[in-house]
Amino acid sequence: MEDYKLYIDGKFENAESGDTYKSINPYNGEAIATIPQGSARDADRAIRAARKAFDEGPWPRMAGEERSALIGKAAGLLKERMKDYARLESLDSGGTINKTGADAFLAARQLAFFAEQAKRFNGEPEEIPGLQREGRSFNYVIREPMGVCAQIIPWNFPYMMAIWKLGPALATGNTVVLKPASLTPVMALELARVCDEVGIPPGVVNIITGPGGEMGAAMTEHPLVDKVAFTGSTEVGRDIMAKAAGTLKKVTLECGGKGANIVLDDADWDVAVDGSIWASFYHQGQVCESGTRLMLSAKDHDGFVEQMVDKLNAMKMGDPLDKETQLGPVVSEGQMKSVLDYVAIGKGEGAKLMCGGARATGGDLDKGCFVRPTLFTGVTNDMRIAREEIFGPVLAVLKYGSEDEAVALANDSIYGLSGGVWSRNIDRARKVAGRLRTGTVWINEWHMLSERAPFGGYKQSGVGREFGDEGLGEYCELKTLYIDDAKTRENKPWYDMVVARG
Ligand code: NAP
Ligand code: MG
Repeated sequence: MEDYKLYIDGKFENAESGDTYKSINPYNGEAIATIPQGSARDADRAIRAARKAFDEGPWPRMAGEERSALIGKAAGLLKERMKDYARLESLDSGGTINKTGADAFLAARQLAFFAEQAKRFNGEPEEIPGLQREGRSFNYVIREPMGVCAQIIPWNFPYMMAIWKLGPALATGNTVVLKPASLTPVMALELARVCDEVGIPPGVVNIITGPGGEMGAAMTEHPLVDKVAFTGSTEVGRDIMAKAAGTLKKVTLECGGKGANIVLDDADWDVAVDGSIWASFYHQGQVCESGTRLMLSAKDHDGFVEQMVDKLNAMKMGDPLDKETQLGPVVSEGQMKSVLDYVAIGKGEGAKLMCGGARATGGDLDKGCFVRPTLFTGVTNDMRIAREEIFGPVLAVLKYGSEDEAVALANDSIYGLSGGVWSRNIDRARKVAGRLRTGTVWINEWHMLSERAPFGGYKQSGVGREFGDEGLGEYCELKTLYIDDAKTRENKPWYDMVVARG
């Protein structure tokens, strides 16, 4: 069994306490790796190393091209090792090999994108038109790295989330302390090895593992940290924002969602039925941007649900490493219990269970955390199963009368991460998309993301964006530089000078 270490200041180390725990494969309950159980003291050491690497090290002052070469080398290794990393990620998280294989491919591509972007971040001053005395004063804007970035990621996309955090921070010249979720630490710890192998200087990337409550607070409150970037639940996001307030740190948050999936009455069912299953059951529904509230017109409702239920009942559950498997286990026993609790809540609220609603058992499934794909009809938007993020294979179906009502239901949520519209009429779908208060809207698709387009949430789904220029900008401070090469100084009253200059 692999024995991982913390990665602090370029060294692989045990936690100060010497404590460890085992990462578990949710498919069969077997331990797959030994992981250091860090504490606030380890977080403090890692932060100090990142501070030193930022204040004294070469990284923030390196030419963009040089940083790009190192990040690019890492991206090359990720590509070479795609198959191995997909397998590790499946064992650690329960994701099917179809999902983790795609993640491993995308992670390498995304890191290559950030390597390319690094070339643009050189501390080059960008001249802007003179604000003051024409001809003798010069004004510049310079994008500088923010400093030490504390980054905390969840268990649903452990590998890709690490790349989404490390990529932009490193491209723009920051140093990093990253903590993966305790349930799925393996790929972040593998990435520490990659950073070491390609020669990213000591202290630039530090990877620490251990309990989120203790280490997260240490990372968020630490006076030597400049920025906190978090992906996870809205509840923890609120806690992070509150804790970061004490030192007024820059904060970006990618939090929960309750995506509204609107099937208009002119949708092509050949596309929309499978598409809606993809929207809500991909990775067992453990995806922040899932379409977990399906809105069907009264006319479509019964027929559409019938087709979905048939397909959901036929989905193949089993070994995540088997290419035929469509649904793997959820990430842990705790998550399985939480999902099944929501099923009970839904029933208690009067929603109608159309399929699933229980643990899946029999044969191999007995060893794992499998939940049958579950669909509720008769859901109203005030029910907890319509308002709260379940983060499992549970879909709530709501019936609407008019298009306006569908939009109103969609927007009646504290969340605003994602939404979707299915229609044969793209103009009509675009009008509906324009009315949705969410950071992403898909028309006749779901889960499509590009590293060139900003991703993030309206409302309580988040603060700031990842990807795109905006995502890189979240890791930069802007310095305005004013230069006056005057040899003399006009000793006029300020008012007269301002007015004279126009
Ligand atoms: P979580 O419980 O919020 O945990 C996320 C991370 O925060 C983990 O590393 C966790 O460490 C750490 N943490 C826990 N308590 C903390 C605290 N008080 N202060 C600082 N850090 C703390 O979320 P999760 O259950 O892992 O992931 C599921 C959630 O992530 C869902 O709500 C989902 O919507 C959201 N998500 C959002 C996006 C997005 O882009 N918007 C993407 C993926 C997931 P431990 O593991 O050690 O507890
Ligand atoms: Mg695990």
